[in-house]
Order: sequence, then structure tokens, then C-alpha cells
Amino acid sequence: MELFETIQASRHEQVVFCNNTDVGLRAIIAIHNTTLGPALGGLRMWPYASEQEALDDVLRLSRGMTYKAAVSGLNFGGGKAVIIGDPRTDKSEALFRAFGKFIDTLNGRYITAEDVGIDVNDLEFIFQETNNVVGVHQVHGGSGDPSPFTAYGTVQGIRAALQHKFGDEDVGKYSFAVQGAGHVGYHLVRLLLEEGAKVFVTDINEEAVSACVELGAEAVGLDEIYDLEADVFSPCALGAVINENTLPRLKFKIVAGAANNQLADDESGDELQKRGILYAPDYAVNAGGLMNVSIEFEGYSEERALRMSRTIYYNVSRIFKIADRDGIPSWRASDRMAEERIEILGKIKMPHMGKPHRFPGRERNSG
Ligand code: NAD
Repeated sequence: MELFETIQASRHEQVVFCNNTDVGLRAIIAIHNTTLGPALGGLRMWPYASEQEALDDVLRLSRGMTYKAAVSGLNFGGGKAVIIGDPRTDKSEALFRAFGKFIDTLNGRYITAEDVGIDVNDLEFIFQETNNVVGVHQVHGGSGDPSPFTAYGTVQGIRAALQHKFGDEDVGKYSFAVQGAGHVGYHLVRLLLEEGAKVFVTDINEEAVSACVELGAEAVGLDEIYDLEADVFSPCALGAVINENTLPRLKFKIVAGAANNQLADDESGDELQKRGILYAPDYAVNAGGLMNVSIEFEGYSEERALRMSRTIYYNVSRIFKIADRDGIPSWRASDRMAEERIEILGKIKMPHMGKPHRFPGRERNSG
């Protein structure tokens, strides 16, 4: 496909290619939609096999951010950035500062944050060149590790799903199969156990599993997780775990977890519904981390981040209502809810906001 055809297909507003040959920077910033506000989304560093692969990834991820922010009631648009390179060998101060300068040229249309391959030290270099970065260290007014907030928000999404499915959201009465005991999974397991729930857990990392077993969870095999007799399946590791191979095995009543892109494809989402398994859309459920960083600009407050994360309960409940109202699967209802918010709020924008004259020199000279 031609470049513009690719960008038009996903309806992106702007795609910026950033090059600095001297420092080895090759990066792409994708701004999908800024109707609701500046595009907010993390920076990923990855040794992409080709430029096309990097472009496809940044386009897909930035579009996802538009939907996540919109469905979560945030006044942010969707954006994402990728640096083509190996995070283990290709990082340098100059690389990140060069990239920070590019972000700054966008005048706040794009705000970056951490994603795969990027840590708080890399953001520190970017922060030297632009204010348009969140997730910086606490000493700079940053919000720190978002995963406890993502886990807390995930519990709110789970509660909404329990209420919709069983008419009773008391987490302690149900059993959970948590796949992945990493940053988010560990905190989720802890919160579920604190409520008195029965929790099964699996992870390729044995230490991560042991940490959860110490809290009171029961360890199960990597593949065994799909066959468990538990009420809720909570993917917190990989994407595409709901697919044609796993679907026939699932006996869960609900799928609600923090992992991104849990559905291998749209058909898998439809199939969940046909099998009577309630799916709480991933990007609505796992928005706690985004909410957490989104308030950094206004002055970070943990209490406010937790309060915002509790709105996930209402967002997910509303998605289920739209699904019932329109007779559609929940994954589609979630997209619809996001699109409806963008469309209606797009209509309250005034065409001209009475900004200062675009040739300020004339005003200076006239006095
Ligand atoms: P993480 O890397 O800390 O944890 C992922 C865990 O999954 C690791 O412990 C890893 O060993 C395990 N894992 C990998 N392959 C597995 C397999 N086949 N079976 C079982 N376990 C496996 O990542 P995280 O920050 O906890 O994020 C987890 C998921 O949630 C990701 O999909 C991420 O994109 C999504 N997410 C995270 C946040 C956040 O705040 N960290 C926010 C939104 C979404």
C-alpha cells in the first residue's frame, strides 16, 4: 500500500518521521485523533525487522489509545511513538534528547510516556528537552509505577462484569484464573485475595508465581489455565489469548483482565458472546494506568488517581448496557461508546476561538 493509503485507512491525523543520523535516531510518532485533547500514549523501543513493521505497530497502537482515552472519559486523544532500535544496545542520552526535541516541535499535540523497552531513566533525558512527557520520576512530580492503579482499575471492571453476569459483585464469592503474575498480575492477585476470592495463577516466571502463592494463590500450569473451572479468566500477560484454539476449552463465565489486545480477532469476541461468556473489553478495563499518568499535568494526586480508576466500573457497565441495547457483542459496544463520545464532543468545538492575531508583529507596531 502507498503511505497515504495506509494512513488514510486508519484515519490518522498526522504521522511524523524523526531522523537524526548522527545519533542513530529513527522514530515514528503517530497522532491518531485529537478531537478530545492532546494525543497521549507511550514510546516503544523495539528492533523492528522492517520500517513497515514499525509503522504498522505505531499506527495500530495509537489508534488503540484514542479508543482507550475516549471510553474512559479522558480528555486526551490517541497517539504513540516508536524508536527503531534494540533497547539493550542502542540507547544513549543523545538518542533520547534528540527524540525529546522532536516531541517538543509538536507543541503539545503529542505527549509521550513509558512503554515496552523504555524506562523512567530514558524519560528523564526526554524530559530535558520537552515538558510533554508523563510517567517521569516522582522527584519531578511524576506518578511512578502505574501497575498498582491498572490492577485496582481492573478489579473495578471485574466488579462491573460480575454485577452484569450474576447480579452480585462481591468479588470474594468467586474464583479467578489469573494468567501472568507480573507488575499488574501480582497486584491483581493481591487485591482479589484481600477480598477473600479463590485465585489460581500461572506465569512462565516461577518466582512471580511463588510470590503469589505466598499471598495465598494456587499455582497452575501454563496451559492448564485455559481448562480451569473458575468463574473469571483474567489475562494479564500476553495478547491474542482468546483465539480459535483456546475458545473451545473455556468454561469461564467472564473474561476480564489487564492484558492488551486479548482477542486474536473480532470473530473471537463474537464467539465469546455466542458461548455465553461475558467479555469486559480490555482497553476499558486496563485504563487505570493511563488515568494515573493523565493527571500529572494538573498536579499528581494518588487519591485522585484511585477515584478516577473507580470510574472504570461505570464505563464497563455502560459498555454492557450498549451491547444489550444494540444487540451487539461487548467488544463492538466498547468501540461504539468511544466513537459516540468523540463524535458528540467534536460537535461542541467552536470553529474559531478568537486566538491572538497570527501576525503579532502588527499589533506591536500599531501602538
Ligand atoms: P509484565 O511484563 O510485568 O508482566 C507480564 C507477565 O506475564 C510476566 O511475569 C511474564 O513472565 C508473564 N508471561 C509471559 N508469557 C506468559 C505466558 N505464556 N503465560 C503466562 N505468563 C506469561 O507486564 P505488566 O506491566 O504486568 O503488563 C501485563 C499486561 O497488561 C500487558 O499486556 C500490558 O500491555 C497490559 N497493561 C499493563 C499496564 C500497566 O500499568 N503496567 C497498563 C495497561 C495494560
